[in-house]
Order: sequence, then C-alpha cells, then structure tokens
Amino acid sequence: DPRIEGIASSMRVISDFPKPGFKFKDITTLLLNPKAFKNTVDLFVERYSGKGISVVAGVEARGFIFGPTIALAIGAKFVPLRKPRKLPGAVISEKYVLEYGTDCLEMHIEAVQPGERSLVVDDLVATGGTLCAAIKLLERAGAEVVECACVIEVPHLKGREKLNGKPLYVLVETD
Ligand code: 5GP
Repeated sequence: DPRIEGIASSMRVISDFPKPGFKFKDITTLLLNPKAFKNTVDLFVERYSGKGISVVAGVEARGFIFGPTIALAIGAKFVPLRKPRKLPGAVISEKYVLEYGTDCLEMHIEAVQPGERSLVVDDLVATGGTLCAAIKLLERAGAEVVECACVIEVPHLKGREKLNGKPLYVLVETD
C-alpha cells in the first residue's frame, strides 16, 4: 500500500532511550503529521470494518492513541487495558515478564461480555509479552480475540510467536 511509506518515514528512532543501548521507536512524530496519522488509522479501519468486532482493547499508554480512533470508526466500544491500580472498578489482572522484572495489565471485568469479537491495539510489539497479557485478559473475560494490531513490529524479537496463535497485523517492520 503506498500509504505505508509515508507512515514509516514519519516515525523516528531515538538512541539510548529510555536506557543506554536501546533504540526507541518514537511514534509522536507520526502524530505531528496529520496525513500520516490519518492513513495509519484508515488502514486499520479498512481492515476491521464489517468484521463484527464489538471490542477494541487498547494497551496503556500508546494503545490509547490509536485504539479509540479505530473503535469509533468501526462502531466498537473501547476498553482500556491499564497499569495496576488505575481502574476504579472490579478488575482482572495479568502479570507479564519484561527484560528487567515484571509488569501487569488490568481490565474492568464487566467491560467485555462472553463471546464478543475483540481487537487488541498497541503502538509496537517487541517481545510480545504485553500483547500476550492483553489476549489473556480478554479470553479470561470470555471474549474472542480476532487479531492484534500494531503500527510497528520489531521482528527479530519474535513477539509474534508469543501470541498463542493469534494473528498479528502490523504496518511497519523495523529493527
Ligand atoms: P513487548 O511487551 O512486546 O516487549 O513491548 C511492547 C510494549 O512496550 C508496548 O506497549 C510498547 O508501547 C512498548 N515499547 C517497547 N519498546 C518500544 C519502542 O521502542 N517504542 C515504543 N513506542 N514503544 C515501545
């Protein structure tokens, strides 16, 4: 798709952030480019419209940038998957392993009904631990995870293999 090139070139890589040796993929420059931002959302909306998806679950924090725009456009509800102790209602939690230590995502238990067709959205998949936790939360609530969607994949980290067979759709691959 000719739109992908403009999306890829509007993002940047910042070396040694957040720690020495890291190469952080920064999507904020994509957000500064209204055409590239719109093309990003449009590509997802074209893929997921008319697929009977009633839930878009976005991962804190950058999944909150892309998820709600997609949800509104396809007529789905938006469900935030948040870091611990942010959601006020009854939650279910999933811990996951990071390079150093662990992290956790939480979801309001009553946000999703059994059988709902769901899409998980984040900005980037690296090791896949975050998406894996998101999938588990939705499945514990009885939802069906149709696909995970990210703007960027870092293929050499093989996050795709951690998704329990769930399909992953990405716009841009980068190392
Ligand atoms: P994973 O769990 O797949 O190893 O890491 C993915 C999560 O970490 C996503 O929620 C993503 O927002 C964040 N993340 C890790 N590295 C980067 C990066 O280089 N750029 C951005 N924008 N997010 C990152």
